Amino acid sequence: MPELPEITNLARQMDKQLRGKRIVGVEVRQEKVLNLSLQDFTALVLNKTIGPVTAKGKWVFMKLEPDAYFLLSLGMGGEVLHHEPGEALPDKYRLRFDFPDGSALSINFWWFGYAHAVLAGELAIHKMTAALGPSPLDPDFSYEKFGRLLEGKRGGLKAFLMDQKNVAGIGNVYIQSILFRAKLHPNRGIPTLTEDERRRLYEAIRGSLKEATDLGGLRYERDLFNQIGRWDLELRQGHPCPRCGTPIEKMKTGSTSSVVCPACQKMTANHRGRP
Ligand SMILES: [Zn+2]
Repeated sequence: MPELPEITNLARQMDKQLRGKRIVGVEVRQEKVLNLSLQDFTALVLNKTIGPVTAKGKWVFMKLEPDAYFLLSLGMGGEVLHHEPGEALPDKYRLRFDFPDGSALSINFWWFGYAHAVLAGELAIHKMTAALGPSPLDPDFSYEKFGRLLEGKRGGLKAFLMDQKNVAGIGNVYIQSILFRAKLHPNRGIPTLTEDERRRLYEAIRGSLKEATDLGGLRYERDLFNQIGRWDLELRQGHPCPRCGTPIEKMKTGSTSSVVCPACQKMTANHRGRP
C-alpha cells in the first residue's frame, strides 16, 4: 500500500513529466471510481492543462488549469504509469488520460481507489481530502506543530499516527520503522510520553519518511516509470533486531499487526494510555 514516500515521489515525477500537457482524451473503464457522473467528470478534465502536481498524505493533487483539480488515491495499491507515444498500454487499467503528443497516463487500482475531479473553488468541501491532517514532510511540520497535535490525546501511539485526520500519509509499513527508530511500543499511551520521547518520535517520523522518499519508496512499490523503490523494511519477524539482536516479534495491534523489538520497544504498566 503506497504511503507518503511513494505518493510524494509519484507526484514529483508526474509534476516533472506531465506539467503543461493538455488532456485531449479521457477513458474511464470503471465509473464507480469517480465522484461524479462520467459526463461531469469528463467536462472538468477534458481539454484542461496539467498544472502543479503535489502530494498530501496518500493523495495526489493534480491542478487542472485553469479551474479544477484531479484528486487520486490508490487505496490498497495500484499503478500510475506514463506511456511514451506508440508504447503499448497495459491490459488492465481503470482510467486513462491521453496527451496531444501521443503519450498517455494509465491508472490502475488493485482493489479500489478514487479518481475524483473537483472545481478549484470547491476543493475545500471535498470531504475525503479536506479532513486530512498535515503531511509530516511539509516544510511547516515543526516539532511545535507536532506537539500541538498530541495535546489532549489519550489513546495509543500507533492508532493516532495512522489516523489520516491527525497526520496524513503514514500507513502500516512506515509506522513500523518510525516506532522502532523512536524506541516506542505501538500501544504506548500518548499522555505517558516524555519530552525526550516526543522529540525522538518527531525525528523518527521525519527521518524515516524523508529517507524512504529519497530512495524512491519501498522496494515493493512501483513509480511512474514502472521502477521499484530502493527502501527496504528494517524489521522482519524472527530476524534479529538491527540494533540489539533480540528476535523481532509480530503482534496484533487493533485491526492491524506490528513487528516490534521486545527489548528496544518496551511497554510497561505505566505506559498504557487511557481509553
Ligand atoms: Zn532491539
